[in-house]
Amino acid sequence: MSAQRRAVVIGAGFGGIALAVRLQSAGIATTLVEARDKPGGRAYVYEDQGFTFDAGPTVITDPSALEELFALSGRRLRDYVELLPVSPFYRLCWEDGSTFDYDNDQALLDRQIRERCPEDVAGYQRFLRYSRAVFEEGYLKLGTVPFLSFRSMAAAGPQLARLQAWRSVYAMVSRFIRHEQLRQVFSFHSLLVGGNPFATSSIYALIHALEREWGVWFPRGGTGALVRALVRLFQDLGGTLRLNAPVERIELREGRVCGVTLRGGERLEADRVASNADVVHTYERLLGHEPRGAAQARALKAKRFSMSLLVVHFGLRRRHPQLRHHMVCFGQRYRALIDQIFAGPLPQDFSLYLHSPCVTDPSLAPPDCGSHYVLAPVPHLGHAPVDWSEEGPRLRDRILEYLEARYIPNLRADLVTCRLFTPADFRDELGAHLGSAFSLEPVLTQSAWFRPHNRDAVIPNLYITGAGTHPGAGVPGVVGSAKATARLMLEDLT
Ligand SMILES: Cc1cc2nc3c(=O)[nH]c(=O)nc-3n(C[C@H](O)[C@H](O)[C@H](O)COP(=O)(O)OP(=O)(O)OC[C@H]3O[C@@H](n4cnc5c(N)ncnc54)[C@H](O)[C@@H]3O)c2cc1C
Repeated sequence: MSAQRRAVVIGAGFGGIALAVRLQSAGIATTLVEARDKPGGRAYVYEDQGFTFDAGPTVITDPSALEELFALSGRRLRDYVELLPVSPFYRLCWEDGSTFDYDNDQALLDRQIRERCPEDVAGYQRFLRYSRAVFEEGYLKLGTVPFLSFRSMAAAGPQLARLQAWRSVYAMVSRFIRHEQLRQVFSFHSLLVGGNPFATSSIYALIHALEREWGVWFPRGGTGALVRALVRLFQDLGGTLRLNAPVERIELREGRVCGVTLRGGERLEADRVASNADVVHTYERLLGHEPRGAAQARALKAKRFSMSLLVVHFGLRRRHPQLRHHMVCFGQRYRALIDQIFAGPLPQDFSLYLHSPCVTDPSLAPPDCGSHYVLAPVPHLGHAPVDWSEEGPRLRDRILEYLEARYIPNLRADLVTCRLFTPADFRDELGAHLGSAFSLEPVLTQSAWFRPHNRDAVIPNLYITGAGTHPGAGVPGVVGSAKATARLMLEDLT
């Protein structure tokens, strides 16, 4: 293979792995370089005493985007990993004891909507039509288009205007649905990709149609099994994965990237480099020695970043059949809490997402036991510069006490193992600017052309993939970003 066709991808998150698979499938000798000891990035896996904990993504949607990665080389996803359907998609719970099972069953949805507000049954149908229209435009047509020029953004303008993309998700849902709980049911989704439902563009209402279209899935063996499947595919194709290999510098020669330098000094030559690392980290740390890196890092730091998360992984010596796989436990405040999560200071109350994967796949814990994680969205370090080594354990204890009182009796007595991941860990372990869990906040003014581009605007053979570029965070988002980036990298070869 000639030196003309050698690529390095920095970072083995879903975006980096998907890009590496695409490049390798196209015959480009690709080296995927990961700082940590395992691939996956936010989808890292912890194992302890027979419990398996996925660190991050658990709601797997749009399997077709994943299947496409295997089909590129005539392979099939199901030969590498099994995707199990999750039902209900989510159970949403409020402090008054009411619940809503959100699933793909129209009769079940209608019954639960009617119980709360009969007019909202028709309103929901109008919302679903709207959500499907945005899904067509925003996901199917524009989700994997690299927005390199303002002209491409302007061309999408009329559709965005017709879909009222300047409104927030919550405002749009409220045009169709009256009942406050139902407004929460159909607006909370943007939080899963770091978007404030009261600020993020109503384009993100497409997540509802996406889930109704393709369902919610969970890989047998956990999200980590999906990561391993993609890595195996990459290696079967002849790609090289380097673990424990943090990149320290992206090297330039005459204005073009010529390779990377790893910690310890090893040099990897490449004629094109893509970074899946955090975008600020990429420009500030890896390219800060060049004027372009320093300038772009300054520009990016002036932007708005998504909130962070406190994640508690815990294993219990008992199963809890009353739990569902995905549960959202709303606290007393919705809007006021979200406002504070996106602006600080650290709130004293919380809303939680509770993950109980053994409901779908008992193999993730020893017999009769359960592995779980619970997460609370919290402000990023710029909005709440707290000392997480002290605040983390305090908040963890309050969250576990709350879960025990309302959802999981005897939780603390049944604890076998427990670990904590705080905003400081997002910063220190993943290089995330301000410890943000989802990179740049997905508001309209930071989306599409306004987001860091899939190809750098100045350095012609430097590319970006992952949550910080178009279209944005979430597994379908970063896998879509890899498609947009790969298209540019392959076009640039010809
Ligand atoms: C707790 C949590 C729950 C989530 N739940 C969901 C969900 O249910 N569904 C969903 O769709 N999305 C979910 N998300 C969002 C989703 O996980 C992320 O948006 C997505 O996984 C980010 O992928 P990425 O490609 O941007 O890379 P990342 O996962 O951010 O990976 C980047 C990689 O780059 C590596 N790296 C950084 N710097 C260097 C360097 N200098 N040298 C080498 N390597 C480097 C890092 O170690 C890391 O492995 C969740 C996120 C979190 C945090």
